[in-house]
Amino acid sequence: MSHSENVSETSPDRVDVVVVGAGYAGLSAALALVDAGVNAVVLEGADRVGGRTLSEVRPTGVTVDHGGQWVGPTQTRLLGLAERFGVPTFPTYWAGDHLEIWADSSINRYRGTGPDEGDGLHEYEAHIEVLDALAATIDLHDPSGSPDAAALDDETVASYLVRTVPSEGARRRFALAVEGVWACEPAHLSMLHFLFYIAAAGSFDELMETDGCAQDSRFVGGAQAPALAVAAHLGDRVRLGWRADRVVVTDDGVLVETPVGTVRADRAILTLPPQAAGAVRFDPPLPPAKARFVDRSVMGDVAKVHVTYSTPFWRGEGLSGQATVYDERETGVVFDNSPDDASRGVLVAFVYGRRVDPWARLEADERRAAIMTTLVDLFGERAADPVDYVEKIWSTDPWIRGAYAANPTPGAWSAYGEQGWRIPTGRLHWAGSETSSVWNGYIDGAIASGRRAAQEILDLR
Ligand SMILES: Cc1cc2nc3c(=O)[nH]c(=O)nc-3n(C[C@H](O)[C@H](O)[C@H](O)COP(=O)(O)OP(=O)(O)OC[C@H]3O[C@@H](n4cnc5c(N)ncnc54)[C@H](O)[C@@H]3O)c2cc1C
Repeated sequence: MSHSENVSETSPDRVDVVVVGAGYAGLSAALALVDAGVNAVVLEGADRVGGRTLSEVRPTGVTVDHGGQWVGPTQTRLLGLAERFGVPTFPTYWAGDHLEIWADSSINRYRGTGPDEGDGLHEYEAHIEVLDALAATIDLHDPSGSPDAAALDDETVASYLVRTVPSEGARRRFALAVEGVWACEPAHLSMLHFLFYIAAAGSFDELMETDGCAQDSRFVGGAQAPALAVAAHLGDRVRLGWRADRVVVTDDGVLVETPVGTVRADRAILTLPPQAAGAVRFDPPLPPAKARFVDRSVMGDVAKVHVTYSTPFWRGEGLSGQATVYDERETGVVFDNSPDDASRGVLVAFVYGRRVDPWARLEADERRAAIMTTLVDLFGERAADPVDYVEKIWSTDPWIRGAYAANPTPGAWSAYGEQGWRIPTGRLHWAGSETSSVWNGYIDGAIASGRRAAQEILDLR
């Protein structure tokens, strides 16, 4: 990787393809192009690669994943990339009893994929089948062209649930599922996007479950490790601190202007999260449908809090460390995020959706106290004595501006999706997790999107 100060500030370099953004999409696009013998560079605004994955070695020696972390067995692109670059995985710890806290602060203890009894549980489980059947009707390559797309896109998940799920307990379970997986509220989520996302993952359970599903395994050294390895392989082709400010398309190429230099290329692949793409000036301006789809693709809100203990003490008490929080607390779900060798115990608490802003506005000690209260309620007094506490609020990350991914607002897919989602706009090709037909919003989807955008260019040669 090269840093900005090493590079000439005056003469624009000329390459075949300039890739903007060094998350998994951008790195995968560049890798596919370089593997095919194409001269490509990656411009990354931040001082690191990995984007929405960020693995940090804490003073305790534990590596925490502030961003994306899990991989599941059908995420074959990510697994394959990790294998190529020698990054092993290990299974997520989930042996023992999981916990649920309800609004009356009662705690329910259960094993396996879900409790046997609970308010609205049977209605919730029965309706998952309805959702999977609806998701099977979605056209993964053009969601806006699916049967009933316009009607589905007119409706929010909240209004759909009120209309079709009489049990309040079941609706509460779906609301927490939406917050957990989409990092937004059901009232903000289009039914069409909700179903598309389920279809892109394979099923509702694929998104929700641990063993054999999206939360199945983690990476030794963290989920940023494969990205760092790809970047090392690409070497000086990856330029850190090169923030794309302006993209100019001319008859014979593309110019990407940054504060430290300009790169000229035949074509560009843009892999920025939508709000970050919206901050770039395009000359000529993007076509209206593209501009509007970008505007209306709104990032979710999420923060991750890692709390480390000298041991995973809950395991000795028969607990898995997984907890679901149905009352109005700051965190909605907790997982055991200990290292594979259990040399320390780590709990990760997710704060998402509407819970983020009121929590993020608190002073740091109040934020910490709020999280610690819930951990003590769940895991007892031993949870009050951590050796490390660290949080990362993605909603305020200047490069990403939210997470896990963007959710097009209701109506956006049907009005602008066909033209605005991912088809190339002239010399500009579009990648990023949000543009994937598989595992949309996930690392695997980001890799798929980068490869697809690279292939669009290879097909022209
Ligand atoms: C808290 C959290 C938990 C998650 N959990 C999981 C999980 O467990 N499993 C999973 O598969 N996925 C998970 N995800 C989602 C996953 O991390 C993302 O979908 C994926 O990493 C996105 O990759 P990308 O390349 O599309 O975009 P990004 O990673 O966002 O990359 C875009 C890059 O563009 C750069 N950039 C922005 N503006 C500019 C500019 N003007 N010029 C140049 N560069 C710019 C950014 O700095 C960034 O590096 C999670 C995400 C978060 C944040």
